[in-house]
Amino acid sequence: MEQVRAKKFLGQHFLTDESIAERIARSLTGRTECLLEIGPGMGVLTKYLVDDTRYHFKAIELDTESVDYLHRHYPTLDVIEGDFLRLDLNGIFGSAPFSIIGNFPYNISSQILFRVFEQRNNVPEVVGMFQKEVAERVAAGPGSKTYGILSVLLSAFYDIEYLFTVHENVFNPPPKVKSAVIRLKRNEVQQLDCDEKRFVQVVKTGFNQRRKTLRNALKPLNLSLDAIPDDLLAKRAEQLTVADFELITNKLQPSVAADLQSDAN
Ligand code: SAH
Repeated sequence: MEQVRAKKFLGQHFLTDESIAERIARSLTGRTECLLEIGPGMGVLTKYLVDDTRYHFKAIELDTESVDYLHRHYPTLDVIEGDFLRLDLNGIFGSAPFSIIGNFPYNISSQILFRVFEQRNNVPEVVGMFQKEVAERVAAGPGSKTYGILSVLLSAFYDIEYLFTVHENVFNPPPKVKSAVIRLKRNEVQQLDCDEKRFVQVVKTGFNQRRKTLRNALKPLNLSLDAIPDDLLAKRAEQLTVADFELITNKLQPSVAADLQSDAN
């Protein structure tokens, strides 16, 4: 592999173990014909995807040097030079749904995952490598210390599997933390059983003060909690299922105090 100097601010940690790259590529279950790789870098994973005739394949890479490298080594590859977070995902494969794969830039892991949440009706599958901690967080279920906002939001619409852990020594330069590969497969849920915007707000507010019971953690919403069962309010956000959060969202009511305040204004 030709040496390219890794740029830290781009979250560049190039994978050096090809067997792991191959394993990531093989973890796709082929739910779509269209496939987008985020951050191909020097193409270690791309190599196992670009010639796979099952896929209409594109990649997006922010680093010009990497893009030049990819053009030279994979002349048939359709690589977009740019920032995934700014990419207009609606037009990218026409109106066709697409899966996402990558050894992702870790500095934007959460932002990538929030985009997946927003784009869930276009994205049936994601296979990717994250910091182990993020991977665990996303794959965690209720009751676990790592269960958080992204676990709830994503598990509402995806079945999430923790596939395998990857040691830091197989990267150049090695990251400070271990990595892990996870797979997200879109489930059958088309719509939540409650108002989605409010649901997101409840989840975020609940986890904002995750050590508090919901009775206290949800106070900043300034809504009445009176209709919510006491046993739920006595729990902490990390103990609640998606269904619990839906129920809470539906039972929130305008608070009398808030009404009085808005009357006064
Ligand atoms: N997939 C390669 C590189 C992983 S490092 C490998 O496994 O070796 C992460 C890659 O994401 C780098 O190449 C970095 O330049 C690229 N990158 C960083 N931010 C990006 C962004 N916002 N959009 C697209 N690519 C990005």
